[in-house]
Amino acid sequence: MRTLAYCLVFFLMPCLVRAGEPLRVSAFSSVLAEIAVRVGGAEVVVKSHVPAGSDPHDYEPKPSDLKTVAQASLVLLSAKHLEGYVGKLQEASGGKVPVLEVGAQLPSLWMREDPKGPRIEDPHWWHSVENVRKATKVVRDGLAALRPGKKELFETNAEAYGAELAELQRWAKNKVAELPRDKRKLVTSHDALQYFAKEYGFKVYPVAGLTASEQPSSRQVAEVLKTLKEQRVKAVFAEDTVNPKVLQQITAETGAILGGQLWVDGLGLGVAGTYAGMVRHNVGTIVDALR
Ligand SMILES: [Zn+2]
Repeated sequence: MRTLAYCLVFFLMPCLVRAGEPLRVSAFSSVLAEIAVRVGGAEVVVKSHVPAGSDPHDYEPKPSDLKTVAQASLVLLSAKHLEGYVGKLQEASGGKVPVLEVGAQLPSLWMREDPKGPRIEDPHWWHSVENVRKATKVVRDGLAALRPGKKELFETNAEAYGAELAELQRWAKNKVAELPRDKRKLVTSHDALQYFAKEYGFKVYPVAGLTASEQPSSRQVAEVLKTLKEQRVKAVFAEDTVNPKVLQQITAETGAILGGQLWVDGLGLGVAGTYAGMVRHNVGTIVDALR
């Protein structure tokens, strides 16, 4: 049904987009914004609404975001339930702007929540380079549907970007190969690296109580320490500031170190401000800390 809705929307859209003007793309993912820029080239103007280095889980569209969306040619979403505000975007545009839920066309992994509760899709699909390659094709087709006359240009651009992703994947696999399989253990404060783990053969141990915003109970801290000791983990990774008290206990009792900052919720800052830079930073940080 959803696919049918897309088709109808895309079928109707070209008449609403004026020829000659760049397509206005509103991306609610910094990764998708990069893909749109690379595939769309001079045919698009891309607004990245969720800034690199910010938390997309807590993001709420501002009035200025809604105004931009209302005038957009295309909205790009990570999907897999990451953007709980999709209804607001549709309302802002009066349902006239096509919303492409890119992640909905990619395979899902599932969050480990309450086993009795409903299954929840893990939204962090961009930690698989293979998924980003597929997402590039989804965006390419979305742009081509809006501007059929530029289909070949979008194909050429998508191929060039895809070749860079293939090179990035080769690099990442070679880098991970430096790490013996029994050392591929990720202890993180935020269960965001399942797609990464699946792609490169890691096991993930998400733990509570590691971040500064949490006040872990002594039972939670004991569980963290038990996991680290049992798994002989050499390093833990946290995405934001680490709880100094917990970190002190970890380093004193297990010898594990803080492995450095990872960018897990979209593009990062500095060298991690591009997709390739983010992957190289994360893979390099993980492999170097666990080696
Ligand atoms: Zn996340």
